[in-house]
Amino acid sequence: MNYKLLTLRGAATSIRGQLIHRDLHLGATILADPPPDALKIDLEGCTLRPGRVNAHDHLELNHYPRSKFRDRYPNAHLWGEDMSARLDHEPFRSLRAYPLEDRCFIGGLKNLLSGVTTVAHHNPPHRCLYQSDFPVRVLKRYGWAHSLHFTPESELIRSYQATPPDQPWFIHLAEGIDAVAASEYSRLKVLGCIGPNTVLIHGVGLTAHDIADAAPRIRGLVICPTTNAYLLGQFPPLAGWIAAGGKYALGSDSRLTADGTLLDEEAALNQLFPQADAPLPPSSESHILGDPRLAHLEPGAYADVIVSEGADLRLVIRAGVPQFGDPDLMAKFPKIQTVAARLFGKPKSIQIDLARRIHRCALNEPGLEVDALPSRSFGWFRR
Ligand SMILES: [Zn+2]
Repeated sequence: MNYKLLTLRGAATSIRGQLIHRDLHLGATILADPPPDALKIDLEGCTLRPGRVNAHDHLELNHYPRSKFRDRYPNAHLWGEDMSARLDHEPFRSLRAYPLEDRCFIGGLKNLLSGVTTVAHHNPPHRCLYQSDFPVRVLKRYGWAHSLHFTPESELIRSYQATPPDQPWFIHLAEGIDAVAASEYSRLKVLGCIGPNTVLIHGVGLTAHDIADAAPRIRGLVICPTTNAYLLGQFPPLAGWIAAGGKYALGSDSRLTADGTLLDEEAALNQLFPQADAPLPPSSESHILGDPRLAHLEPGAYADVIVSEGADLRLVIRAGVPQFGDPDLMAKFPKIQTVAARLFGKPKSIQIDLARRIHRCALNEPGLEVDALPSRSFGWFRR
């Protein structure tokens, strides 16, 4: 019996938003046929969905408190200037001193605990993000620039031109409600950085003219509603974007400006577009991030699966391996060694390698307590 070959049986399964009933066969990817000698797990009563995809985060910035220095900003560049001026003040000075690996790890853990299994990281592709003990899958093939305000034009053009056309190129754009934000799309176009792989982050200040031009032409728009509400008091023109044929995805941004996790962004989006009015068309993470193995459960997809019951997230499986979940569900996987934990007081079980990494981290994830590892599970005793 191989714990990496699983058949999840008897659960309602959501494939591309549609609820169906079928067994799900898991290796590191979703398999078309039951794997030989697979462990069969009964999850009757639960719903299986693809792991969530977070299309925008800054993984090394999630141990900071949510911060702003005025009630509302006309654009996020002014917030960025305010922030930069305080980096040597407390608490930022001390928080910046933690090792990069630990700061990134907290970002990964925040995502995993909210059922996110893949993240598009906006910043340099730090090596630690791609190590086997990193909690989530991080998009590997991408280009990026910070913004028109904080990236010199020459560097921005160089970055765009260096990104192969099949890979997404991300930039914060029109994150504001003033004339500066409204001018940014045309400025980026003049620089030659609008094309089929351009992905705009935020886009709150896009004009109707920008939307008509961009929606059919670029890869997509990533929205982060709680960050926009916090800094700007306004949301991006998503309905117009979709009506013009634009693709979109949801991002959490970091805790420096966001309300919480991707779950809070989903809640904010649902409030903006109540199902009863005009149902929102599905988001396009796999298209925007350029990886067809994401965000579905058909054969060939990553075996990244979240299991829920009603609104409760009960279990998160990444690449066919259960990572954390409710103790009764984690106990269904006899080959997975776990450590007891509590998330905001609720009992959870955490896969032992992840628990070990959590204990090594100098930073704490809010709300998470993990028991000590059993002494014989230390690396040098492991077989
Ligand atoms: Zn951002």
